[in-house]
Amino acid sequence: MNNKNYQQTRWSLQDLFPGPQSPQLEAGIEKITNLVENLEKRRAVLVDDISQDVFLSVVKDMETIVALGQKVATFAGLFFSEDTQNEIAQSLMARVDQFVSEMTNRTLFFELWWKALPQEKAQKLMDASGDYQYWLEAIRLFIPHTLTEAEEKIINTKNVTGVSALQMIYSSITNRYVYKLTVAGEEKELTRGELMMYVRTSDADIRAKAYQELYRIYGNDAPILGQIYQTIVRDWRNEQVSMRKHSDPIAARNLVNDIPDSVVNTLLDVCKTSAPVFQRFFKLKAKWLGVERLRRYDVYAPVVESDKRYSFDEAATIVLDAYTRFDPKFATLAQRIFDENHLDSEVRKGKRGGAFSWAAGPDLPPWVMLNFQGKSDDVSTMAHELGHAVHAMLAAHHSIFTFHSNLPLAETASTFGEMVLVDYLLQHETDETVRRDILFSQVDDAYATIMRQAFFALFEREAHEKINNGASVGELAEAYMQNLKEQFGDSVDVADEFRWEWVSIPHIFDVPFYVYAYTFGQLLVLSLYQQYKSEGEAFIPRYTKILSTGGSKAPVKVLEEAGINVADPAFWQGGFNVLIGLIEQLETIPVK
Ligand SMILES: [Zn+2]
Repeated sequence: MNNKNYQQTRWSLQDLFPGPQSPQLEAGIEKITNLVENLEKRRAVLVDDISQDVFLSVVKDMETIVALGQKVATFAGLFFSEDTQNEIAQSLMARVDQFVSEMTNRTLFFELWWKALPQEKAQKLMDASGDYQYWLEAIRLFIPHTLTEAEEKIINTKNVTGVSALQMIYSSITNRYVYKLTVAGEEKELTRGELMMYVRTSDADIRAKAYQELYRIYGNDAPILGQIYQTIVRDWRNEQVSMRKHSDPIAARNLVNDIPDSVVNTLLDVCKTSAPVFQRFFKLKAKWLGVERLRRYDVYAPVVESDKRYSFDEAATIVLDAYTRFDPKFATLAQRIFDENHLDSEVRKGKRGGAFSWAAGPDLPPWVMLNFQGKSDDVSTMAHELGHAVHAMLAAHHSIFTFHSNLPLAETASTFGEMVLVDYLLQHETDETVRRDILFSQVDDAYATIMRQAFFALFEREAHEKINNGASVGELAEAYMQNLKEQFGDSVDVADEFRWEWVSIPHIFDVPFYVYAYTFGQLLVLSLYQQYKSEGEAFIPRYTKILSTGGSKAPVKVLEEAGINVADPAFWQGGFNVLIGLIEQLETIPVK
């Protein structure tokens, strides 16, 4: 316990640069340019018989360039987040974006050379590369799927006016939608974000109307949005399967995540067979809402509304106490974000919405942005983002290339931090309503990140197959309704307009098969948390090791070394067991 009084403040970016127009920032940009020029001049040293020393010196030059580049890019990004309306910030962002992409192109020759190097020679170099090893290995994973330089150039060039253009058109069409909703007799014109706030209100009628309006608009354009989807999916198969020789469409994404295909299949299979877990929850929720059966409109309906508020000082104290109770080391690291003024928690006009943790490099604590307004969600968000920050700090001994964990593990410390907080709150909170609210929100969130995303991925897998066999947009919508039926069973009534839900999910258009990473990350954390509950203190060193490995090993290897076998369905089942435990707790509470 400490007796500090935490105040909401703006962060300081002094650890990066004194300001957006400072000579130090200009000097940084100039230094990167010089380093890149020097590296270009050394290009001739990249030969098959390169010595270990020369090779490492090139890697170190790359590291220096990337590390400084990240500092410049982080400064620009953070300064812009502070006030997105600031013109100096806007032009700095644009300039830095352009600069970074130019420098990346100019140093691309290293990666191309590295991929072309014969395996035996590369292996020798990697084996003696210490912390850089996995980074070097990961680049080479793509060798069997890399085409000739000329073909790669054609793909890049044609993508700009091809699939990327289609994705842009999808986003242009859908971002200009205006939704109409009558609330308390007044017709409002809303953005999608504003409209979706109403699916979480306690008014059942408004919840239904909000969804109906969403799918009225998407349904109107479904023929064209569906056609865009079909084309993106065909492009994906043509490139990833026919040309790059991935075994199937999802395999291309699995390789980016460096997760074996069989592990992803196991994960999705376990989700499919665990559909009844959430069905049980929806049946319970129906009782609490006093209805025979839940409608799809009611999935996010609030069951209990507690309007408990937290001051910033209370929130910070609770989060740090919860972390301390887990492991004082975690709390000490989280505390640094406050002490070193790397936290911007104020709500200000023009400031970016939401929250994030942004690591500039392994040598500095990350910067954390919150928009703290005192709701219980804001306290969880604080625990979440500080978890990201602790994760980065635990991996600070790695290089710029290897300290940041891969996507499937990127949400581990953040989600675990939230669980630590929930446990702490449940132990200290005496108000029954607040406790109930915490438990219900937990399961609601787990549904949204685990099951919903898993079923999106299952739909994608099916849709890619069906489109390959010539399925029409109508047939895809039919397959989507079947997918929902399997997900909800007899626990939820799904209205017909939900057949257009899939055309409203940007992820499946923009980054095919991205969504299962959410399922992977959340279920992983639930399983880890289960292990913590059963093993107690003994678990902490194993867990700390997972985090401190950062991105210096393949995700499956990181977990394997901690005794976790993600190829075993029982491991994923363990995550569902935690949820069953939560649901059982809720079932014991008498319905009022
Ligand atoms: Zn996160």
